[in-house]
Amino acid sequence: MPVSMTFFGTTTWLLDDGETQLLLDAHLTRPSMARVVFGKLKTNTEFVDEVLARFPMERLKAIFVSHTHYDHVLDAVYIAQKTGADMFGSASARNVGLGGGIPDARLHLFEPGSPVSVGAFEITVLPSIHSKPTILNNDLGVAIERPLTQPARMRDYSEGGSYDFYIRHGEKTLLVRPSCNYIEGSLKDIRAETLLLGIGGLGKEDDAFHDTFYRETVGYVRPKRVIPVHWDNFFQPLRAPLPYQTRLADDVAGSMAYLKARLEADGIAFDVVDAFETVEL
Ligand SMILES: [Zn+2]
Repeated sequence: MPVSMTFFGTTTWLLDDGETQLLLDAHLTRPSMARVVFGKLKTNTEFVDEVLARFPMERLKAIFVSHTHYDHVLDAVYIAQKTGADMFGSASARNVGLGGGIPDARLHLFEPGSPVSVGAFEITVLPSIHSKPTILNNDLGVAIERPLTQPARMRDYSEGGSYDFYIRHGEKTLLVRPSCNYIEGSLKDIRAETLLLGIGGLGKEDDAFHDTFYRETVGYVRPKRVIPVHWDNFFQPLRAPLPYQTRLADDVAGSMAYLKARLEADGIAFDVVDAFETVEL
């Protein structure tokens, strides 16, 4: 059964096998930087409704939240409410769900290492690590301790632990790594055909980090195809073509060139997917 994957910028993907849909992270609203820094954040329901009209999610069964920074979780509650999907995440993600009025029975705490079946998808949550903190997100490991309601400040959406997803569907395998970092050796027994590789911040790292990061991710996983994620400027509205993150915050062109060269040398496909584009798993 073919499985399609549609990209919505940052790390948000819709997986669909024709029967079951899964959402990985949920960030469509993309508030401006001024709002993120100085204002309060809430789902742009009008815009999310537009996206849902164009990409119906009436078979959405689950939303998996990789961590609870706003650029991963901001629209999870609204989409869960509109579709009836369950949410899966950390204790912090549960508090985002509770604050938005999602019944506790539909909020599932991650049990890393134990596969969860949703339709024909089997998802295993893997403990991971966030990319190195910046001035905007220096709260790694800080949990959201109480139910969180919108509008909320960016800092209220604290990280709460970061996770990767290993997804199997029939013979197909996918590893999802939203954050650009590595825990030494943690992927050495993981193999996946497709790797969604978070590269946010990679352009700010030095050559030694690049090489270790590549070895610790692609080197172990040995995918046939790498699709980069978290490379776009998410302070801009969601549209195609997605703009790169600003040169001030990252060097996306440099990261892309590095990956392209390394992957080409290793005979691995490198597919840059644009917003609203659908590829097959
Ligand atoms: Zn984050």
